[in-house]
Amino acid sequence: MLFKKLIKFFFKISLMIILGLIVVSSIDPKMIEGKTKRYIDEKDQAAVEMDGNEVNDRLADTKQHELLYQKSIFTYQPLPQNIIDKIKGISWKKGAPATLESLAYVKVSYFGFDDKIHQGELIVHKEIAQEVTGIFKELYAAKFPIEKIKLIDEYGANDDLSMADNNTSSFCFREVEGSDGKLSKHSFGIAIDINPVQNPYIRKKKISPSEGEPYRDRLDIKKGMIVKDDVCYKAFKSRGWIWGGEWKTMKDYQHFQKNIVLK
Ligand SMILES: [Zn+2]
Repeated sequence: MLFKKLIKFFFKISLMIILGLIVVSSIDPKMIEGKTKRYIDEKDQAAVEMDGNEVNDRLADTKQHELLYQKSIFTYQPLPQNIIDKIKGISWKKGAPATLESLAYVKVSYFGFDDKIHQGELIVHKEIAQEVTGIFKELYAAKFPIEKIKLIDEYGANDDLSMADNNTSSFCFREVEGSDGKLSKHSFGIAIDINPVQNPYIRKKKISPSEGEPYRDRLDIKKGMIVKDDVCYKAFKSRGWIWGGEWKTMKDYQHFQKNIVLK
C-alpha cells in the first residue's frame, strides 16, 4: 500500500513539474516580442482597411477607387547609392548621430493641394520606416492634402528655405532652432514636419516660417492644417508619436516625433 501511495505521489509531482514548464515556456520574452510585432503589422493593415472603406464612401465609382490604389506606392529600403551621394555633405555630414546604415529611404504617394496624386521621398530612421509608410498610407486613403514631400537636400539642407516652400521632410542633421547645440530629433530621422506653412512653429510673437502667419489662429481651420483629432493627428498619435502642437511653452504644429530607443 505504501509503495502504491509513493508511486502516486511521484506521479503527481512530475505532472506538476511538466505543467509548470509549459507555463514558463509560454511566457518566453521572445514570444511576447513576436506577438507585439504581429500586432503592429495587423494594426497598420487594419488602419489601411478602415480608411479604404472611408475612401469607398467618398468615391462612389468603384473603378476610381481601384485606380487610387493601383497608382499608389509605399516602399522603404536602405539608402541607395545615388541617395547617399546626394545627401553626403548636405543633410548628412561626418559627426552626424545617425549613421548612413541606420537610415532608410522611403517613397510615398500623397494627395497634393491640387487634389492630384503625387510621389514623395523621405529619409527616416530604419526602425520606424515601415511605420512611416503605414502613416502615409492612412493620409493617402483619407486624401489628407500635403503640398510637397522632397528631401531637404533640394534646399541645401536649409530648414528655413524648406519650410518657406511648405516642404514636408524628416531627416536633417541640425540643431534645434535657437538652442545651444542641442540636436534636433530630425538629426536621428525620428521626426517629420508636415506642411510647415499651414503648421508653423510659434513661440510667443515668433513664427517660423513667416509665411505661416495667416495660420496662427488654429480655430480657423484651412486646407493642410493639422488639428487635434483629425486624420493626420490620429495617424501619428495612434502609433505613439508626439505632436509639437501639444507642447506647452511653444507650439510646433508641423512637428511629429517618435522617441524610440536608438541602438
Ligand atoms: Zn520638426
